Amino acid sequence: MDKYDQEERYRIRMKRKKEVVDKAIASADIERGLLLVLTGNGKGKSSSAFGMIARALGHGMKISVAQFIKGRSDTGEEAFFRQQNNVNWHVLGEGFTWDTQDLARDIEIAKQGWAIVKEMLQDPSQQLIVLDEFTYPLKFGWLDLATVLNEINRRPAMQHVIITGRGAPEALCEAADTVTVMGDNKHAFHSGVTAQKGIDL
Ligand code: ATP
Ligand code: MG
Repeated sequence: MDKYDQEERYRIRMKRKKEVVDKAIASADIERGLLLVLTGNGKGKSSSAFGMIARALGHGMKISVAQFIKGRSDTGEEAFFRQQNNVNWHVLGEGFTWDTQDLARDIEIAKQGWAIVKEMLQDPSQQLIVLDEFTYPLKFGWLDLATVLNEINRRPAMQHVIITGRGAPEALCEAADTVTVMGDNKHAFHSGVTAQKGIDL
């Protein structure tokens, strides 16, 4: 095959591809608030949610964040997003469960956190709600999943909700519009590298 044939075949293939893609884009014309679940054992769940916060900020949107289980207080995202007028940043947990070792206290904190989240989900001025590490109180049964799903379903029509954390319950994934499962193929921590600024915190 000479060079001309090759280029011509490429052009025709790309033209067909573009037609298929354009058709798919044209048929996806619904505008509504989405529920996204970012789960799995691999790195990238919370940082993906923070990336969407940056996008939303770029569009002048108002964002509420609730961090349910807080590993540390020195993260770059917290320092940066707390400076943004359009971001309300709430920290609801005081540490991982294996740090506190106090079940009754963890359940109480989760319940207090849920009361704050419920208000966010009823406030149409908040266009994006990020519930970071929210899968844990759900998977441990500290919060009633049916109640949570009911409140999420009743939220303002254009409000987006992102939930991160490992082990997302099946019913939550079923309710979601977009579910991404991060795969743990490799992580530097297992080679003895400690959490790095800008990458892990
Ligand atoms: P990130 O905040 O970096 O997007 P994540 O939200 O997917 O990570 P978490 O389970 O919330 O992951 O854990 C947060 C911290 O643990 C981060 O410092 C992250 O780099 C690290 N981490 C995430 N996944 C793994 C893994 N599979 N092995 C070891 N450490 C991990
Ligand atoms: Mg996380």
